[in-house]
Amino acid sequence: MRVINTIHGLRAYLSSIREQRMTVGLVPTMGAFHEGHLALMRRSLENGDCTIVSLFVNPTQFGPKEDFEKYPRDFNRDSQLAADLGVHALFAPPASEMYPEGFQTNISLPKISSRYEGEIRPGHFDGVATVCAKLFNLVQPQRAYFGQKDYQQCVLIQRMVSDLNFNMEIVPVPTVREPDGLAMSSRNAFLSPEERTVAPDLYLALRQAAELAEQRERSAAAIKERAIHLLSEEPTIKVDYIEVADAESLEPCDLVDRSTVILGAIRLGSTRLIDNILLK
Ligand code: AMP
Repeated sequence: MRVINTIHGLRAYLSSIREQRMTVGLVPTMGAFHEGHLALMRRSLENGDCTIVSLFVNPTQFGPKEDFEKYPRDFNRDSQLAADLGVHALFAPPASEMYPEGFQTNISLPKISSRYEGEIRPGHFDGVATVCAKLFNLVQPQRAYFGQKDYQQCVLIQRMVSDLNFNMEIVPVPTVREPDGLAMSSRNAFLSPEERTVAPDLYLALRQAAELAEQRERSAAAIKERAIHLLSEEPTIKVDYIEVADAESLEPCDLVDRSTVILGAIRLGSTRLIDNILLK
């Protein structure tokens, strides 16, 4: 596996790949790899893409009070995991390479970014959209792989790719979970043993809400209430939001009469967890 730290090095590597007429798959990450990240890489490798994983803890998508400094970082472990899987190249630039002095461009999708995660984390999705646009321009992949665990992020990126005519496909990959249902996340490492035991409640609550919908309940309020009620029984959990939204536009729904998604976010101590379930 090639480890690349500069844009110049990335461009040189890509031109040799294009000479070999390989398709390119990009897997953007912030590192601290777990099975969720590896699922995206496997999917790209299965598609036969020359798989480029970016590893960049993007400062612009963290708010001033968020966990940028303490975000888990373990480059040696990550590069070993990616190499063992057969990833072709790991692009791990320093922040000065991505945001040299004078950088000022911002990509904003105000409508999608005004809700749910975007409402609680102002500026977060501008940071995500801008860094992904840069990565897409640099790598010009045929496909980029994103996890459905970050459902709103997937919708945002799909919208940006369509709006800005990036000539590529976004491949959503299903959420990888721990055996007890907790969605894998780099932030799970921050949970205390006690918090870890209640963390799967988010998925259990979303599952119960989804089961209500599967039993033909159409009222989004009733479906949300089912999840909120279950979560309210655990005093250490603070619910940020539970919402039922149109699966494509992410506009909130009153009725589940089309493809919808139940989105949820909770706080356990200082750790935020998000999850979602698609209702077909
Ligand atoms: P991150 O490093 O947290 O920015 O995540 C990088 C990519 O991995 C994003 O596309 C995430 O949606 C995806 N991802 C993170 N956790 C999971 C998971 N449990 N299952 C599937 N994909 C995931």
